[in-house]
Amino acid sequence: MSVTSKPEHAPAAPDQAPPESAESPGSPASAKSPNSEKSPGSPKLIDLKALTYDEAASVAESELGEPRFRGEQIFRWVHGRRAASPAEMSDLPKRVRAELEGAARIERLAVDQVQRSADGTRKLRLLTSDGRAIETVLIPDGDKLTQCISSQVGCALDCQFCATAKMGLLRNLGVGEIVDQVYRALDFLAAEEPDRRITNIVYMGMGEPLHNFKAVSRSLDILMHEHGANFSHRRITVSTVGLVPGIRKLGALPVRPNLAVSLNASSDAVRDEIMPINRRFPIAELLRAVREFPLEKRRSITFEYVLLAGKNDSVDDAVRLGKLLRPIRCKLNVIPWNPHPGAPYERPSPEAIEAFQQEARRQGLPTYLRTPRGDDIDAACGQLANRTRDDDPGAGELVSLRT
Ligand code: SAH
Repeated sequence: MSVTSKPEHAPAAPDQAPPESAESPGSPASAKSPNSEKSPGSPKLIDLKALTYDEAASVAESELGEPRFRGEQIFRWVHGRRAASPAEMSDLPKRVRAELEGAARIERLAVDQVQRSADGTRKLRLLTSDGRAIETVLIPDGDKLTQCISSQVGCALDCQFCATAKMGLLRNLGVGEIVDQVYRALDFLAAEEPDRRITNIVYMGMGEPLHNFKAVSRSLDILMHEHGANFSHRRITVSTVGLVPGIRKLGALPVRPNLAVSLNASSDAVRDEIMPINRRFPIAELLRAVREFPLEKRRSITFEYVLLAGKNDSVDDAVRLGKLLRPIRCKLNVIPWNPHPGAPYERPSPEAIEAFQQEARRQGLPTYLRTPRGDDIDAACGQLANRTRDDDPGAGELVSLRT
């Protein structure tokens, strides 16, 4: 797949309601028939990886006629021990294992390619069972190791500076596909760097997480569960273009991840142009929703600001940003634009980046410069679009793992 490949389904217009129902394999339609897949001639299979702890317990009752704790056992096998098949679930009665073999599947992405950046960043290209390629990135930073995961194949939001946007939205990822990115990375690390742990997860890969809210919120539930990967909500960040209803829904979850908002402009005129979603949810409305997002003590909102030369990088922009953001407990991540082919933008000069940062700090905003990570392998922010070395002979070392 290349950056220029055409979406097979017309992407949802950015001002349309998010396609919650967009085919999302593994999205339970109801607790009774969760994660069913229908394909002609094959019985519907439940994706065990897409079930939250509570859903697994309900499925044990409703689909298997077993007590709820069987579902909890299944959850521990699938997410705690990352079992590949029901046959491994040795503390389940044989008949339950046999029934699961016929009625269920366990989503698993194939690791198709690993690219290694000179800075230690690694990008894994993963294939879904229907042959879609998605990308996840591992970014080391001192003792921290952050995994950036994807929530959709492509994206519908059409941000003008982003490579993923050029793909359009192909489809939502299912719950199993979202969490399995983390499990593939854990397995990869166990083999490659056994002493390393993934410390943080950011939903900043391909796609708009709040445009696939149901699957994303279930994946959060699973990744944070003590019998699953057991990540603290403080170590998970969901990043959004600013879908206001999605921000409200995320804020209403009993356990909330950190919220990052890609602001990228200090005026509606510029934001309308570079992020068409702004015409639906302009800055004032977006910031109102952000102010209402419930924050725990000592937590703050992250604003991301991609710097585009001559577009949004002036000192006046930083002054306006100060006025907009000062009332919000937040920090500002300044991201110099990462180039990708065909995009009509440029990264500002180091002097312009420095002047913007200084002014933002003078305005009282805690400001951090995000140095591009993994840009030699197109793994940096906004570069995920399934380019391969075939497209770009200069890309980093490429190891093909086809499993
Ligand atoms: N849809 C979500 C998450 C994916 S994008 C969101 O928009 O937040 C992750 C971050 O990369 C966003 O802040 C986005 O503004 C930024 N980004 C996109 N393209 C970029 C590029 N070419 N260079 C630098 N940052 C980019």
